[in-house]
Amino acid sequence: MHKLRLFWQIFPVCAGISLLSVLLVGWLANSTGRDFFISELNRNLSERIKLLQPTVTALAQRGADEQLQDFIRNTGRQASTRITIIDAAGVVLTDSSEDHTLMDNHASRPEVALALAGKEGRSRRGSRTLRESMLYVAQPVLLQEGQRPGVLRLAISTASYDQHSGSFTSKIVLICLVVPVLAAILSVLSARRISRPLEEMKRGAEQLAVGRFDLPTRINVDHMTVEMAGLANAINQMAEQIHQRVRIIIQQRNELEAVFSGMADSVVAIDADKNIIRMNQAASTLFMLPADSVKGRPAQGVVRNTQLLELIDYTLAHNSQQECQVTVFSGTDPITLQTHAMPLRDEVNNSVGVLLVMNDLTKLNRLENIRQDFVANVSHELKTPITVIKGYIETLLDGALAEQDTARNFLRVAAAQANRLDAIVDDLLTLSRIEDKTDQNVVTSPASAQQVLENAVEACVPLAEEKGIQLEVECAPELRAPMNQPLLEQAVINLLNNAIAYSSAGGTVLLRCRESEKSDGGKLLHLSVIDKGPGIAKEHLPRIFERFYRPDKARSRDMGGTGLGLAIVKHIVQAHQGTVEVESILGKGSTFTITLPGMEERVVEEDL
Ligand code: ADP
Repeated sequence: MHKLRLFWQIFPVCAGISLLSVLLVGWLANSTGRDFFISELNRNLSERIKLLQPTVTALAQRGADEQLQDFIRNTGRQASTRITIIDAAGVVLTDSSEDHTLMDNHASRPEVALALAGKEGRSRRGSRTLRESMLYVAQPVLLQEGQRPGVLRLAISTASYDQHSGSFTSKIVLICLVVPVLAAILSVLSARRISRPLEEMKRGAEQLAVGRFDLPTRINVDHMTVEMAGLANAINQMAEQIHQRVRIIIQQRNELEAVFSGMADSVVAIDADKNIIRMNQAASTLFMLPADSVKGRPAQGVVRNTQLLELIDYTLAHNSQQECQVTVFSGTDPITLQTHAMPLRDEVNNSVGVLLVMNDLTKLNRLENIRQDFVANVSHELKTPITVIKGYIETLLDGALAEQDTARNFLRVAAAQANRLDAIVDDLLTLSRIEDKTDQNVVTSPASAQQVLENAVEACVPLAEEKGIQLEVECAPELRAPMNQPLLEQAVINLLNNAIAYSSAGGTVLLRCRESEKSDGGKLLHLSVIDKGPGIAKEHLPRIFERFYRPDKARSRDMGGTGLGLAIVKHIVQAHQGTVEVESILGKGSTFTITLPGMEERVVEEDL
């Protein structure tokens, strides 16, 4: 629909009302003035007739026609009034302005007819004789005793009134011409006054419409009318509320975004047309596709798994939650996913998509396998010495107790197995204590690497001396690192014990400490235990730090090993945020190296 500007809405009304008012007032003033003027003239003429009547009657009854004529002429001239005397038959007897002999019969003139009927006659019309608009008043007058009365008629010109009326009308017309101009000016001013706050409100509303919710739009309500200020305040309140809500929505969206992208589970949102809406980082890693590039792409090309695609179809069709285990391939590795498919619903609960949440069970399954292996290993490791002890005790009870040498031998073996059992339980307890600490990280304080190595050497001297092995320490005294000293000593002792145990008698074991610098400028501390023992075959190296993993079980057992020493080392080092590595060449020896984060450089600012 065609929209009118505010001016064109106000102007016609304003101009129309003003024009109508002027015309009505003009007409009222003109008609009232005319009526008043005519009635005043009529009254005036009536009174004048009454004043003339006695003189006219007297002169007529005396038959003084000449005198009567002069009187009428003089009086008429002085009073600017036309005076006419008409007899009962309508014949004009005398007239102040005209020659009465030339005048026609006046009996039919309305005012004369009324006067002849005995009443006062009044009439207003153009005079045929004088050719101008006249007001006539006629009254009966007694001319001759005993005869029917004649008529005394006074007439006065209304030309001056007509002239005034004409000028009044032209003034009204002039006002009517001026009124639209004034109305236009008033309309412009009013339109501006109304539209200015409206314009401001429009600007505010436009800001909202284009989504400028960050700055709350404030409309200035000063100089506004009560109604406009009310409307502006309502818009301001609305803007404030929208601003608040948008802030909450943005905050919630950011929170959701953080949850979504930080989730360890893979999450993929799919619309009703089976196109990807979005997926999180975990899903992007799982499907090996960048999260941003998959938006809007068909799920078929991204998920590429029949089971998952069927699950999506089923969930979309049935609008209900589904759950199942799916195996997908990320590269060549099979991954078991516990998959929840939830329908995305609109406000009337219609299905508009599917949300897939996939929990990678592979790690969990692996941990479960490790746990099962561990339980089996522990049982086995514990069972072996127990079986041996049990066997010997039963043999002793069956009679071997009688042979003292054999009995002592049996008891020695049983005692050794009991020690082994004790060692295994001790190591298991140590391992479990360190595992607790690995979760929380151990409390560390700067300690000297040399001190750690020397304390470990001191603990292992008896064993080394027993085998005639020489222990050497190579460490700069200033090397320090944040560490839990007792735990780290335990780790070095474990490595040193192994090095001594697996080295041939008369050999040398070297403990060395070095420092290196990382690319980011940080320091690393490397503690190495180097032996020239039998070494470890390459295929065993990746598993050497696993619990109870021993390349040669029998040999290890003979040497009193529990199979937990290196696992303990690994956990102690992990609790220090460090790593442990092994390099070994069969027949040449092994080097176990613990790498720890070094001391952070601290710049001491000196007071200037
Ligand atoms: P164990 O109690 O059997 O020594 P560890 O966990 O300490 O258990 O060691 C696991 C296995 O690693 C050992 O059984 C042994 O075969 C091998 N090993 C550890 N240290 C050395 C070493 N210095 N030289 C050769 N083999 C080693």
